[in-house]
Amino acid sequence: MRQPMVAGNWKLNGSRQMVSALLGDILSGLGDPLTAEIAICPPFVYLQEARGALEGSGVVLGAQDVCDEDEGAYTGEVSAPMLGDVGCRYVIVGHSERRSLYRETDELVARKFEAVMRAGLCPILCVGESLEERNAGVTEAVVARQLDAVVELVGPERIGEAVVAYEPVWAIGTGMTASPEQAQAVHAYIRGRLDLAGVSAGSVRLLYGGSVKPENAVELFAMPDIDGGLIGGASLQAETFLAICRAA
Ligand code: 13P
Repeated sequence: MRQPMVAGNWKLNGSRQMVSALLGDILSGLGDPLTAEIAICPPFVYLQEARGALEGSGVVLGAQDVCDEDEGAYTGEVSAPMLGDVGCRYVIVGHSERRSLYRETDELVARKFEAVMRAGLCPILCVGESLEERNAGVTEAVVARQLDAVVELVGPERIGEAVVAYEPVWAIGTGMTASPEQAQAVHAYIRGRLDLAGVSAGSVRLLYGGSVKPENAVELFAMPDIDGGLIGGASLQAETFLAICRAA
């Protein structure tokens, strides 16, 4: 039995004022305990502040990225042990914006994944194809390559403890959501691929991300292999985020 999960990825948005106002509104609007686990991933500099605001609420904290090294001469980086130290439970690795805008390779993403596990935290590994790749019919090959790089480095047992998020690049921030059937097909493929690699994939949580909104969340989350969502734009407003959380 997989517990559903909804994670809000704030990306490069926020301020101290927003952390207290938005998290305050989310917590006061939560009401009865939800079925889904809820995680918030603000920018690094607001983690500490968010941790304070979330204290005792059951809503957990995640980071959006991490260094593959634990310490040393890596100016500007933030390590997994540091993220653990400020109270993170989850760390997003391999988001498509990191892969495309910051040239992160499959190998670097795998090393980041390993660093997160080494620190005792849980990676949320993002995979997904671009529009060109979908149109060229190579969606499965792309997702397989992204998954295999991690399985090869860390082994099947470790990936079984992580969360995988399928985020088709063409659906991120575009308003073009994958249909529930399109998303389900890739989720089922991911689960099958992990099974083949020796991962006990039945217990791995698979999130969908890409223009999730209150209007499409129920249908998406009702699909058998979709265990919740990784939410960008709609996580920046308490009401929409809470509506999505309730759908999971
Ligand atoms: P949007 O929900 O804004 O499309 O972003 C999705 C995403 O990239 C979450 O990581």
